[in-house]
Amino acid sequence: MKKVTIFTTQSCGYCQMAKTFMTQNNIQYTERDIQKDAKAREQLVKRNISGVPVLMIGSDIVVGFDKEKILALVDHRIAACPQCQSKMRVPNNKGKLSVTCPSCKNVFEWTP
Ligand SMILES: [Zn+2]
Repeated sequence: MKKVTIFTTQSCGYCQMAKTFMTQNNIQYTERDIQKDAKAREQLVKRNISGVPVLMIGSDIVVGFDKEKILALVDHRIAACPQCQSKMRVPNNKGKLSVTCPSCKNVFEWTP
């Protein structure tokens, strides 16, 4: 499954909206604040990107808060185990799945 990273700044409204959107859609992501994280900032400068939010989804880059692109590129959703509530990433491009919880070994059906 692809790793999702979002590059943000504290003052950027669209960044907040993008993060809320990811949570609502059960997408797991890592946030990097380019004002605090010089290495993250460098990654954007290297690609000639000057605005945020920027999402890195696997090897794809989405500049700006583009919901449709984000949903099309992300290949997982977060599922919660009905027994122990542990959260895990599950592929969303394989239809209905039987998922085994890594914590309690409970097996449950999951539909994207
Ligand atoms: Zn469990």
